[in-house]
Amino acid sequence: MKTYKIAAIPGDGIGSEVISAGVEVLHAMATREGTFSFQVDHFDWGGEYYKQHGVMMPENGRDLIRHHDAILFGSAGHPEIPDHITLWGLRLNICQPFDQYANVRPTRILPGITSPLRKVQGPELDWVIVRENSEGEYAGVGGRVHRGQALEVATDVAMFTRGGVERIIRFAFKLARSRPRKHLTVVTKSNAQRHAMVMWDEVATEVAAEFPDVTWDKVLVDAMTVRMVMKPESLDTIVATNLHADILSDLAAAVAGSLGIAPTANLNPERNFPSMFEPIHGSAFDITGKGIANPIGTFWSSVMMLEHLGEKPAADRLMSAIERVTGDKRFHTPDLGGTARTADVTAGVMEAIHAANA
Ligand code: ATP
Repeated sequence: MKTYKIAAIPGDGIGSEVISAGVEVLHAMATREGTFSFQVDHFDWGGEYYKQHGVMMPENGRDLIRHHDAILFGSAGHPEIPDHITLWGLRLNICQPFDQYANVRPTRILPGITSPLRKVQGPELDWVIVRENSEGEYAGVGGRVHRGQALEVATDVAMFTRGGVERIIRFAFKLARSRPRKHLTVVTKSNAQRHAMVMWDEVATEVAAEFPDVTWDKVLVDAMTVRMVMKPESLDTIVATNLHADILSDLAAAVAGSLGIAPTANLNPERNFPSMFEPIHGSAFDITGKGIANPIGTFWSSVMMLEHLGEKPAADRLMSAIERVTGDKRFHTPDLGGTARTADVTAGVMEAIHAANA
């Protein structure tokens, strides 16, 4: 029997609540399938670790998880530590060196969930956002001089490489080709950003020639926010830069019903390093410790992890178990207008996993 080694990094806030629910569900899935099992190693990195050690993860941290089959990540963020330290010290400290350059974020309206968009019932909204996850606005290039003085200067340089742009656009075209609509929307801002974004557009046109069976269009990021709200049915697969996609995917999560549902995969498609799976939401300190965090985003991320591990039938079964549970309002947590608790949703999904037709 195959044993998958999973590195679980719950991180901060509700991270530990949703990750322990996710791990429970993964073990239940393995029991249900009977053909594989999980060895889950826990790493207590994050804000509390920082308060004790002055770093978000140990210096040899990546070596400790480099040979795992996948990483299940909760969230990084702490009320007493600046956000740029928690983000760069943990999440980006894993994503970037592990070259997880493709960040994949599916958005659908699951059964039982109501979109805040009046016209949208469900099938009109079925997107996958592909976020460039290794460079661009998050390249980390920049600096500050004359700190605290009147002539202080601060720069953040968005850095795009042709290779980096080509690989993400090609990844997005391939993904679009695998979906029924075979349509890709390339998000840009080449009217204002006349160097990198113009190269981004040029690369899109070049790579598109390799995919004659995929239709594609191009839209400015500002117009994209309008289109997502007004014409959601016109979109399918979407590719955007690191920052643009970060913003658009929060909007996507909101129109799909709740931030608590949305999943994401940080993929190293070449599999030279482990890929990382995480709910899209952050630490949510307002609800931490109350037992009401919605674990669905973590469960859906686990579906993506199972797919990545090559366990497609198990992934499909877990997804239908999730959909059975979201379809039943008794299992809706407060972010969805219900009164269910994390443990209720977890128990509901476990029951659906073990039910005959799940
Ligand atoms: P961070 O700074 O780490 O990104 P945040 O608290 O600023 O975290 P999020 O956690 O992404 O931002 O979410 C904003 C709000 O959405 C939270 O304060 C919480 O009320 C709600 N929320 C997010 N995730 C969930 C969840 N899984 N279940 C229920 N509510 C959630």
